Amino acid sequence: MYRFYINNIDDDYHFMELARVFLPDDGFETIAYTGRPVAHLLGENSYFVNEAATSDREAIKREFFGLLSDLTGIRPPWGTLTGVRPLKPALEMCRQSSVEYMEQEISRKYLLSERKVSLLADIADYQLANVGGVPWEMDSLYIGIPFCPTRCAYCSFASNVASEEEHAEYLGNLLKEIEYAGALAAEHGTKLESIYIGGGTPTTLSAPQLEKLISKVSEAYGIDPASLEFTVEAGRPDTITKEKLEVLRSMGISRISINPQSMKDRTLQLIGRDHSADDIRSGFSLARETGFDVINADLIAGLPEEDLNDFEASLREIIDLGAENITIHTLSVKRGSRLKENSPEYYRKNAADVSAMLDLSREMLSSAGYRPYYIYRQKHQIGALENVGWCLPGKHSIYNIRIMEDKQTIIGLGAGAVGKVYYPKEDRLERIANVSNYRIYSERFDDMLSRKNEYYK
Ligand code: SF4
Repeated sequence: MYRFYINNIDDDYHFMELARVFLPDDGFETIAYTGRPVAHLLGENSYFVNEAATSDREAIKREFFGLLSDLTGIRPPWGTLTGVRPLKPALEMCRQSSVEYMEQEISRKYLLSERKVSLLADIADYQLANVGGVPWEMDSLYIGIPFCPTRCAYCSFASNVASEEEHAEYLGNLLKEIEYAGALAAEHGTKLESIYIGGGTPTTLSAPQLEKLISKVSEAYGIDPASLEFTVEAGRPDTITKEKLEVLRSMGISRISINPQSMKDRTLQLIGRDHSADDIRSGFSLARETGFDVINADLIAGLPEEDLNDFEASLREIIDLGAENITIHTLSVKRGSRLKENSPEYYRKNAADVSAMLDLSREMLSSAGYRPYYIYRQKHQIGALENVGWCLPGKHSIYNIRIMEDKQTIIGLGAGAVGKVYYPKEDRLERIANVSNYRIYSERFDDMLSRKNEYYK
């Protein structure tokens, strides 16, 4: 067990997060300390950080990073940046001066590797050239459908395997919530920039249920789905039918997500997906026949038993299938997932392999004409690496960008939906969450409705 006494800090949270990138949770302790190092504290495996007593927090983190690197022999590529939105400081620096300035400053300040600096520069370039600022009078809308046909081994989302009766009961309440939220939006004169129906897997609902859902959104918000960015996740290919896709298209929706995660049957079985790679191929061809313009496909680097060749074969096939958006996730092993229960330290293993997968994805996607357009990190990702959304030029998802920018109100409806209100004058967000369990959502439905008023305080 290592013990780190960190001098002249108010709280040790960020230092603990940084140490976690290098060491297992039970392998260290960080202690906020003020004063001179006391000899008896510094026993074996105890270290004193910031002897110079500087109050520059970034400088202390750099010193701590150096110490952790020396002790473990690893040098994580995101340096001292532990936050989940690495593009935020990068874009601020670009706007202050230029992309070139950002490249120098971000690597000096946070000790990022050259590859991560150049990834941020590519994303910043794309966004600065293709994405305008947030239209001040517009919100985005997220609707959660917390059902899936089976539960994946790594899942920590609001997702449940439920009966048709439960789907119907949930939808009944959700339609009322949409109506209520739409009426509030009309009263306050807010319009929507984008709509995203996620979960869970929304296409777990039947075709007539999907039709009811989209009609209710259109009616409550007074919109034509074809007139704005409107995405429906059809993540699990085993939920896709021609009838459901035709309903979505006929109602004007042209963007869906079909999320393979891997194109290897053995992996799909191992992670509990209960469908085959052939189902993914059929889902893609059905979606093309039905006329969807943008299909997003998620892949995960670091799935159990996968090596670089498996990852390369999956990515090659997704590119060949012509997905307009491809999001490359690094496996995140969170509390509440089966993978975490079975192998608590899984996310600490395979960092070098997963890093090679991400490097390969960058080469393959760039040479196939894709551009990286958004990025985020999650806790407990293998190697503290990242998720990157790639798109063919012009096919980016504005919703994905807005959710990472944290500069827009996102109204969250349904079980598991976490919305946020943005206060531009204070540049501040307030989180407004519905409960995540669909049964409690129904039991406490009146409370869920009244929470919608908080978006307009
Ligand atoms: S498809 Fe997504 S939401 Fe559903 S169980 Fe798998 S990881 Fe969870």
